Amino acid sequence: MTVIKKLDDLDIILSKFQRKKILGLVPTMGSIHRGHISLIKTALKVSDEVWVSIFVNPTQFNDVNDYKKYPKDVQKDINQIESLAPNIKIFLPSVYEMYGSNIDKISFNFDGIDKVLEGLKRPGHFDGVGTIVKKLFEIFNPNFVFFGEKDFQQTIIVQKIIDAYFKNIKMIICPTIRAENGLALSSRNSLLSKKANKNISIIYDSLLFAKQNFYKFSVKEMGKIIKVNIEKNPGFFLEYFELRCSKTLKTYKRGNNQNSQCRAFICVTVDGVRLIDNLLLNHEN
Ligand code: AMP
Repeated sequence: MTVIKKLDDLDIILSKFQRKKILGLVPTMGSIHRGHISLIKTALKVSDEVWVSIFVNPTQFNDVNDYKKYPKDVQKDINQIESLAPNIKIFLPSVYEMYGSNIDKISFNFDGIDKVLEGLKRPGHFDGVGTIVKKLFEIFNPNFVFFGEKDFQQTIIVQKIIDAYFKNIKMIICPTIRAENGLALSSRNSLLSKKANKNISIIYDSLLFAKQNFYKFSVKEMGKIIKVNIEKNPGFFLEYFELRCSKTLKTYKRGNNQNSQCRAFICVTVDGVRLIDNLLLNHEN
């Protein structure tokens, strides 16, 4: 198994890579779960060489505590990835390797996409995401990059980075992988208490409720019902539930946006752990 920590070593390997072949890159923050695995499996299908980066990117955390408590288990991650296919290569840089001594982020113009939903709640988050994505794409010059629909807003941000700087890269968006109770898999799920886990299906159930009742309730009514149902559970707090157009992330308005894809976005904090999810409401997923 190739695990590379230094940019100099990575450059040597990448310089030998024949550019006729397809290089696939799967950026992650580690704590690998079945969601990541599905991205890697997709990458294996369409690439000659697959690189998985594992890097908990400090510039995308607006809360130091969130950064500090982000789950990490590098050896377990490596074992899991190796068991999938031993020829996958892992890039595991340190913060210094990626940022040097200036841990700064670039200020991008994302046309307002970074000012709603996660961007509103986590100021600067998407500049941090853009910064690390741009660095990784510059280093690897990949043909394909793989991202999860689970972080839908992030996929729009990444596409904007691609359009602005990397016209040759193609992003493949992979469907959200869920636990049996519907909870979207996330590294943060390991921080949930057993008690919280018991009622956690309410998050996906709320999205399904919105899909099933899309034509029955107004957005406001829907939001009210969902808030009450979620906050019935001790320790659960609804940060946002919003319907937005999939393409533009503008607020979905029934009269004006009949033909647009409408997507519900939800963020629930459970005992201080932020969980996000989304679902397309008016078309088949
Ligand atoms: P993260 O390590 O959380 O930064 O995630 C790395 C990549 O895996 C991102 O593109 C995520 O959208 C994707 N991902 C995370 N969770 C899931 C999931 N449950 N299903 C599919 N993709 C996911």
